[in-house]
Amino acid sequence: MKTMVVKIGSSTIARPGAGVRRPFLADLARQAAELRDMGWGLVVVSSGAIACGAPALGFEQRPTDMPSLQACASVGQCELSAAYDEEFRRRGLITSLVLLTRSDTASRSSYLHARDALRRLIELGVVPVVNENDTVAVDEIRFGDNDTLAALVSCLVGADLCVTLSDIDGLYTANPSEDPAARFIPEVDRIDAKILAAGGDSSSSVGTGGMITKLRASRILMTAGIPSVIASGEAPDALVSLARGEAVGTRFLPA
Ligand code: ADP
Repeated sequence: MKTMVVKIGSSTIARPGAGVRRPFLADLARQAAELRDMGWGLVVVSSGAIACGAPALGFEQRPTDMPSLQACASVGQCELSAAYDEEFRRRGLITSLVLLTRSDTASRSSYLHARDALRRLIELGVVPVVNENDTVAVDEIRFGDNDTLAALVSCLVGADLCVTLSDIDGLYTANPSEDPAARFIPEVDRIDAKILAAGGDSSSSVGTGGMITKLRASRILMTAGIPSVIASGEAPDALVSLARGEAVGTRFLPA
């Protein structure tokens, strides 16, 4: 059985002020069912808890103080998990919730616990939905962004492919929203200073990572020998096409 880890960015799973994007989730569940029929297990690393919790608690904008953010994460995680569960169940798939903090991968025994739980869930045909435990994680024990978390989860489960679904169709030579001359890069086989320099800062209002954290995550994955892809959450059938070996988005190929 092959395993795919897919990371869903905040702006892909949630709309600012409007919570979970159900049509996106319904399509993700449809693809997950198709992947299962093709013999692939799936792990989802999903952002969006704070973006879903903020409107539910009546915040018009993402709050800035830590306790309010933690409250939004706590409420939003419930809403997000319920939405995943509902949409995946319609396709006959069971989801589970795995909330991690960095300490879970820092000591050997908790690393092994996390690994064994995730591997067993995949064996049982479950789609684990993983997120950082934002309600309790303070700076010192944070992964910091879900791109890095997805890379670590891919290493934990020995994934065959890690896919990041974002609001952009892949990596460009510069941020296309700032530089109209930016060119699409279909394939990367080495993350050097030039590629990292293309990363720039995130311009999305709900995301926290930006391209730079995706590039750093891809570098971890390359070192681990795991291929990765950055693709648009709007690309039709992206996960199924990738499982078939078709080209979608920017591919990062380990040597
Ligand atoms: P997500 O919420 O999916 O993690 P982010 O908003 O954090 O996504 O990161 C994606 C954004 O990074 C893009 O929408 C784009 O504005 C920005 N970006 C910066 N540099 C680049 C680049 N070289 N190529 C593509 N996107 C870039």
